Amino acid sequence: MSAQQKPLELIHARNLLTCVSTPAFLVDQSGDIVFFNEAAGTVLGRRFEETGSIGHEQWRRLIGPFDESGDPIPFEQLALNLALRRGHAGHLRHKIREAGGTVSEIEVSAVPLVATGGGFRGAIVFLWPAGEIDAGNTSCVQITLDDGRVLVLDAGTGIRGLGLALAASAEPVRVEILLTHLHLDHIQGLMFFAPCFRPDSEVVIWGPASREASLEDRIARYISAPLTPIEVRELPCGVSFRDCPTTEWEIGSAQLRAATVTHRGPTLGYRVSEHGRSVCYIPDHELGLGGPLAELEPDWISGFELARDASLLLHDCQYTDVEYAEHLGWGHSCVSDALTFASRTGAETTMLFHHDPLHTDAMLDEILAGARGRWRELGGADGGLTLAVENAEVGLSAGSVSAQA
Ligand SMILES: [Zn+2]
Ligand SMILES: [Zn+2]
Repeated sequence: MSAQQKPLELIHARNLLTCVSTPAFLVDQSGDIVFFNEAAGTVLGRRFEETGSIGHEQWRRLIGPFDESGDPIPFEQLALNLALRRGHAGHLRHKIREAGGTVSEIEVSAVPLVATGGGFRGAIVFLWPAGEIDAGNTSCVQITLDDGRVLVLDAGTGIRGLGLALAASAEPVRVEILLTHLHLDHIQGLMFFAPCFRPDSEVVIWGPASREASLEDRIARYISAPLTPIEVRELPCGVSFRDCPTTEWEIGSAQLRAATVTHRGPTLGYRVSEHGRSVCYIPDHELGLGGPLAELEPDWISGFELARDASLLLHDCQYTDVEYAEHLGWGHSCVSDALTFASRTGAETTMLFHHDPLHTDAMLDEILAGARGRWRELGGADGGLTLAVENAEVGLSAGSVSAQA
């Protein structure tokens, strides 16, 4: 007896799911689970090796999902339905029954799986714990210009939520993504950015030039087998790649400037200005390598001109001063260097950004309290220093900025 081979895209998607620690299911076009990873097995209380495929009626009986009153949610209202029937990414929050009968609140993201040539293969479904407010996402900041145009600084995991919000619109999405550099924490959200999977989206990706390979080729090292189920050229959206100019350029009504800054590998900082207001974004930046920051001439300080008198400065503060002593040369700044830089460049408001993944919310509160004391010693204005937190939003007089740290 022989079974027919699964489509290659499903085979590759299964490999990807096996490598991630997030509970994830691979679902075919009829809604049956054809694979789930170890983390999803913990939710179901059984391993894939024991169950094999699970029909959609059976998995619905096992885990739900349920609404607030405990009633099963109709299939048509699930995020999965959006992915399977409409080919859009879907994201919803609801309750499921886990192994052992515990009912818990989760968030579900379903991403359609589209093969080369447009063949539709099913969907990948991720489960996320609901209600987490820790600074858990990697770098992504949305800037909305006066005319509604959206610029996105970096494509860390924070871009997932942004993509779902943008893709909810019936209008075609056009978005410009400005990458500071290609470290994984700044590009890993691209594969989960819903507009990338809509044929009517236009995605323009800007980044640092390199003699080694084109921007597209360097990004393709991530979006390609065996790490992802599709290749860059197979993304359903219209996508283009552009090296950042070395001189100022314009996108809509905004003026943009990029400059190389001290980090590991070619890395840019950005300044986006519109109607006299400006945002400077330098998320990965080691100020401590250049000499005594308080005394150096401005032209000897990496990123100084980019940040000078910015309305809002988002700056690396990965390490406490004590931790930095152990991480010299790792490419990031300690809090007091970030504060000295902010004070000397004259930024109106500074948002401390790019938190260390090991820092809990409680530690971040402590770091902010200590930083505010130091900020006052430097003569900084009250209210001029904040900490980037998930979904923080800052209104500037023209346009607005919302940050996801
Ligand atoms: Zn980096
Ligand atoms: Zn980074």
